[in-house]
Amino acid sequence: MAAVTLDLQLDLRLDDEELAACVSCGLCLPHCPTFRVTGEEGLSPRGRIDAMRGVQWRGAKVDDEFVNFMETCVQCRGCEPACPSGVPFGHLMEGTRHALAEQHRTAPRRLRAGLAVLGRHRLLWACSALLAVAQRLHLVPKRIGLPRLPLRQGPRVRSTAQPPESRRSGANVQVRHGGRSSALAGRMDTWLFTGCVMDAWMRSTHRATAAVLGAVGSTYAVPGGAGACCGALHEHAGLVDEASELARRVIASMPGAAPVVVNSAGCGATMKEYGRLLGTDEAAAFAARVVDVHEYLAARLERLPAPRRQLPPVIVQDPCHLRHVQRAHEPVRTVLRHVTVVAELDDDGLCCGAGGAYSALQPELSSAIRERKLAAISAATARSGATVVASANPGCVMHLRAAGVDARHPVDLVAEAILP
Ligand code: SF4
Ligand code: SF4
Repeated sequence: MAAVTLDLQLDLRLDDEELAACVSCGLCLPHCPTFRVTGEEGLSPRGRIDAMRGVQWRGAKVDDEFVNFMETCVQCRGCEPACPSGVPFGHLMEGTRHALAEQHRTAPRRLRAGLAVLGRHRLLWACSALLAVAQRLHLVPKRIGLPRLPLRQGPRVRSTAQPPESRRSGANVQVRHGGRSSALAGRMDTWLFTGCVMDAWMRSTHRATAAVLGAVGSTYAVPGGAGACCGALHEHAGLVDEASELARRVIASMPGAAPVVVNSAGCGATMKEYGRLLGTDEAAAFAARVVDVHEYLAARLERLPAPRRQLPPVIVQDPCHLRHVQRAHEPVRTVLRHVTVVAELDDDGLCCGAGGAYSALQPELSSAIRERKLAAISAATARSGATVVASANPGCVMHLRAAGVDARHPVDLVAEAILP
């Protein structure tokens, strides 16, 4: 999907030590979804690193093949935990994409335009409503792989407590009026990050998250629209300046020391790496406050009410950015086991092919990768009888739903089991 086809010489500006860390052992290859479905060395972590070295060290030109090697990477980072040399592949890929995007070799205009909408909450809602209508008029091509979007999302989550920091800093906080008004005057335990696409497409999961936080006795504040997008998709596309600006806005929108609870694995992974993205102490301190909602709940399991109803067994599908980046996939099981029986996939956490915008940009590879996941789900169903799949990332949920899977966010299942 290169925007320009001229070959050029380019300084990727990658860290030489990071690039040199790869010893070409190949242990990462079985964990790479694009290598698994194509068998091509150039579409493996080792092959991509060798191509990066060629450009940075040996003066090789950036040609269409190089761009294809980089653009077909799902950025799942499944190669990182498998690597005995600790190669920070995600960082190398982000740097390479940044260099390519600066030269307009990747991130074409339509992608940049689409990503620009994410930071503008009202515009995103309007576009999502239009998309939902267009789906019903059969105007959205099936190859984009979107499941049916709801026409209405219901009310937004509102804060149950007002953080004192917001009054000092003037941060724009969404405050719930009415309802349990006594909670508004109380102490704020957490921030609840609601993001962009998740709030536009899966808002009911935010309501479930808010209700479950309330059930464990936690009060929360919701940041205003300024902190609406974490910048993950911008960073993946190599648009580092845009991602950095969004990160600064997110940090400013949630001042203080309270934990920042995130229920989207992709957003949480990006926010936990804000220190590296921005290179400031403030960003590193903010990143240390970010916690996946399952980590938060697992640490308070004794406060989680007993289930009121028995749920059928559930298959757990680990989002890559929860398992390989945050390494926080076990708390999902801890929380789900509180309400039901958990069945495992036997694919060692291989990616489902969603990859943020990947399913739209690389539909054939994305579908081929998903086919492997569907086969693993079928095998798990045959073993356990479970048909519902729990996945803690909106991209994975939507991607699996588009293939007919009954995919649910784990917190939705917890809420269904414990709430009246
Ligand atoms: S990030 Fe994922 S797709 Fe990219 S090289 Fe690593 S394992 Fe393969
Ligand atoms: S990235 Fe790591 S696992 Fe993969 S070939 Fe290089 S050293 Fe081996």
